[in-house]
Amino acid sequence: MNILLLGAGGREHALAWKIAASPLADRLYCAPGNAGIAREAECVTLDIANRAAVIEFCRANRIDLVVVGPEAPLVAGIVDDLEAAGIKTFGPTRAAARLEGSKGFTKDLCRANDIPTARYERFDAKDAARGYLRKVGAPIVVKADGLAAGKGVVVAQTLAEAEAAIDMMFAGGLGAAGAEVVIEEFLVGEEASFFALCDGENAIALASAQDHKRVGDGDTGPNTGGMGAYSPAPVMTEEMTQRTMDEIVRPTLRAMKAMGAPYKGVLFAGLMITGDGPKLIEYNVRFGDPETQVLMLRLMSDLVPALIASRDGQLKNFDLRWYSDAALTVVMAAKGYPGDYARGSAIEGLESAAEIEGVEIFHAGTRSDGDRILANGGRVLNVSARGKTVGEAQQRAYRAIGRIRWPDGFCRRDIGWQAVNRERGG
Ligand code: AMP
Repeated sequence: MNILLLGAGGREHALAWKIAASPLADRLYCAPGNAGIAREAECVTLDIANRAAVIEFCRANRIDLVVVGPEAPLVAGIVDDLEAAGIKTFGPTRAAARLEGSKGFTKDLCRANDIPTARYERFDAKDAARGYLRKVGAPIVVKADGLAAGKGVVVAQTLAEAEAAIDMMFAGGLGAAGAEVVIEEFLVGEEASFFALCDGENAIALASAQDHKRVGDGDTGPNTGGMGAYSPAPVMTEEMTQRTMDEIVRPTLRAMKAMGAPYKGVLFAGLMITGDGPKLIEYNVRFGDPETQVLMLRLMSDLVPALIASRDGQLKNFDLRWYSDAALTVVMAAKGYPGDYARGSAIEGLESAAEIEGVEIFHAGTRSDGDRILANGGRVLNVSARGKTVGEAQQRAYRAIGRIRWPDGFCRRDIGWQAVNRERGG
């Protein structure tokens, strides 16, 4: 098979690494890719927002399967266009991708189908939203309806913060994404990321993970795209997994099918595990980043047949095997991230770091310059490792980081701390 992967981050490097290992993959292309992905795939300069160009590339290179990494092209309808052109594509259609593209859509779907989630109301005007806020009080969560690159959620501890968020969104601070907002109940519990592979009708559980969103040690400082993750999430016991599949994922698939928008692809459920069980915080319609990096390290089976079965509606009797090992990834970011940062500094020692047992280094934002690897983004490397326990994986990842020479980069020193404390009986 000839496979084209779309995207440029650490998630796509992990997917490329796993796809390249498949005996089914003859040629693997990635657009646009990065310096690490170039070790697994042939990177091609292709504007993935230009769907006609993607179709032309697929035809010229006899692509048998396209795998879409990021959400923006999915929400924009790339799967519809590629499939209409006769190109098999893994991922949801535009109508199905509304599960990520519109928070209000997902909340209404939950309400109509008794899927556990935070209580909420939707607003398209400021005064009504402010009036509701005064009625319900803080803490409260304000969310822009549309895609806002991780900036659309404000967890407000005070009424003033919530009002400021409403004012910012209705003043156009997030563009069209904030033209409508969801105001929802603040949930208390432990968060987990849960992934299921779906074929429009059937779903199989993949694995769970937990990520660290804050930039600083001890989960402090501003939010980021994610500074590290580990899998499995201890809070996702077998019972919680079963409940999530039965109470959240399967009812969602039934509802999507009933409205003529069957969901195919990976469904990434952001969950709050509360005293009453799992509640849906939000859906994403693609693999998580950096969660995919740890998922791929734990997946024993070939990924490619699973992607095809999802696309073809053949997951009913499908089974995937996983290593019982844990996996953990630490994000190395450019100094200044998530604020302003510089590009172009050199990174050394990657080969020696990758020699440590169980370690895989995925590139999130790099480019090559001759033999040199240069930083080319905010999140730059995902130093990842497998281990018998989260603790062992953590030790290996940080040992690898010790061998990387990149004065312009930084990372958190405590990724996995909750799970490691639990393993120690703390
Ligand atoms: P999101 O961008 O939707 O993943 O939200 C970012 C973060 O906001 C989540 O990971 C949660 O930590 C937090 N969050 C979102 N919704 C709620 C909620 N209803 N209650 C508590 N925390 C929330």
